[in-house]
Amino acid sequence: MVAMVWVALALASVVLAEVTRDFYHVAGHTWEPIKQWHNTHHKAFRKDLTMVSFDAFSKSQWYNDVPEALVMATVVAIAATGAGIGFGWAITWTLWTGVMYSLAFAVTAIARSQNRMMWTDLTHEPGPLTDNPSNWFVNRTYHWRHHFDSGNAYYCGTLTAVDKILGTALSLQGKTVAVTGASGTLGRALLKALKAAGARPIALTTSPNADFGPRVPVHQWRPGQERELQKKLANVDILIINHGINEAGARSPEAIAKAYEVNTMSAWRLMETFLDTITLSKHRALKEVWINTSEAEVQPAFSPLYEISKRAIGDIITLRRLDAPCVIRKLVLGPFKSNLNPIGVMDANFVARGIVELAKRDFRDIIVTINPLTYVTFPLKEASKSLYFRLFSKAARSPRGSKASNPIGLK
Ligand SMILES: [Zn+2]
Ligand SMILES: [Zn+2]
Repeated sequence: MVAMVWVALALASVVLAEVTRDFYHVAGHTWEPIKQWHNTHHKAFRKDLTMVSFDAFSKSQWYNDVPEALVMATVVAIAATGAGIGFGWAITWTLWTGVMYSLAFAVTAIARSQNRMMWTDLTHEPGPLTDNPSNWFVNRTYHWRHHFDSGNAYYCGTLTAVDKILGTALSLQGKTVAVTGASGTLGRALLKALKAAGARPIALTTSPNADFGPRVPVHQWRPGQERELQKKLANVDILIINHGINEAGARSPEAIAKAYEVNTMSAWRLMETFLDTITLSKHRALKEVWINTSEAEVQPAFSPLYEISKRAIGDIITLRRLDAPCVIRKLVLGPFKSNLNPIGVMDANFVARGIVELAKRDFRDIIVTINPLTYVTFPLKEASKSLYFRLFSKAARSPRGSKASNPIGLK
């Protein structure tokens, strides 16, 4: 038990070092005296993360990586000394773990400046991006976005916690975001919230003559015509699949067919069409799908057809997320006031702003509801289903997993 406490303290000192690294990085973008130093880091890499020149790289090690490691070591050393004065020197020696950890980064940075131990720089390994941006630990794709998507986001170096707290774990600035179901209450609220976050929204709607104000391009489409949108989706960074129907109380064969066609099949086909536009290395870092599967995945919506068709698309997403070529987020939303649901409790603008704020914190399942049970039942359901699907299904042979088999006859 006592040993556990010491291990926890040692780990805490490492976390403190990492948090210091991230705030030093934020300062490198915002505090004049060290901006020039940090800039040497940004100048050292090309878009495929190869070095601009070895001299530029070597300089960046001396001006950015070495001082960063020394600042980390200093902050942890001060904390360790303070804790020692308060609680005894045994604690100081344990917290010294974080100091040694930080100094190791100074040593490897100096080695790299001499063209040695180059393998120690994991987040700048050259070559195409092969993974999706990771969620809790920084990988190459995550960090690539700091260099080439937005320098005002993705500050974290190892753990992503500081970006999550600051709301800089996803930048929407300048991103083209297409929203289906755009003429609905939530669709309109989303367009507004996205614009406020600096994105360039595009409205995808089935309503003729819908108007979304100046500077919001509108594309008409119909369920069944997903493939015709492919060219347009090629230039879209984030696709938000938000359309759906809810014929409360219906159970005729026609109503079943329609609910599955709109809520399940068309949403799925649209997602696959979008995933097929992921053809370049940078798409892995920049493209995303957000899909409104609704709280009906785990709660009654008092509309059986709505529930079962939404649960079907929810399960398909859980299955596809296992090897999709980009980040796919689920939007799990409680009842909000709309034309379809006049007694909804939440305001659609509040829900839309919540979605954007949680996305900027890189929540992969974005839950916005007043039902406290959903915050417990949804993650449990999602984790257990995802595990079950992982155990009893295999990835398609094609790396993207969509073109290899074409079960829905995509054209
Ligand atoms: Zn970098
Ligand atoms: Zn930077």
